[in-house]
Amino acid sequence: MAQVFIALGANLSDPLTTLQQAVTTLQEHPALRAVAVSSFYRSKPMGPQNQPDYVNAVAQFETDLSPLALLDTMQNIEQQYGRQRLQHWGPRTLDLDILLYDQRVIQEPRLTIPHPGLTVRDFVLVPLAELAPHLILPDGRSINALLASMIDHDLIKIT
Ligand code: ATP
Ligand code: CA
Ligand code: CA
Repeated sequence: MAQVFIALGANLSDPLTTLQQAVTTLQEHPALRAVAVSSFYRSKPMGPQNQPDYVNAVAQFETDLSPLALLDTMQNIEQQYGRQRLQHWGPRTLDLDILLYDQRVIQEPRLTIPHPGLTVRDFVLVPLAELAPHLILPDGRSINALLASMIDHDLIKIT
């Protein structure tokens, strides 16, 4: 079984409820075994500022799905929640990013793991550190070192 971390984000139509429902959808998925879920956080948008604040969380799972099959599964669930891709970093009902897949390094057209945003985004690093405070990335950097140099998006813990 692979250990995977998934970042959840949303900023349209009651994002906190959406994220809580999405966690349940992931937990109930037959190919995923839930290990842990972080707190939920509110943060200011990256990129275009004329959109609502985001709610973010990170969840840990075990799975036998391959990395690409996991990506397909995440994108199917995004679709189920009405995700539309209109604008880069634009508003979305649900975003599911694969942060880590064991200690694998993957660079394919559809999939980059570790997720490139992971090392700089507070709304990913802070919830990830809740679940894995001693995490070391495949390149040898510790989550603590990354937390010390992350970009601040006015992150607030909501629940
Ligand atoms: P960002 O990736 O910077 O957080 P985003 O989440 O808004 O931006 P999306 O529009 O959701 O970007 O995804 C664009 C594409 O990114 C997807 O179609 C997918 O193929 C690709 N992708 C590459 N690596 C990953 C990953 N680790 N997890 C999820 N999607 C990925
Ligand atoms: Ca994303
Ligand atoms: Ca995404």
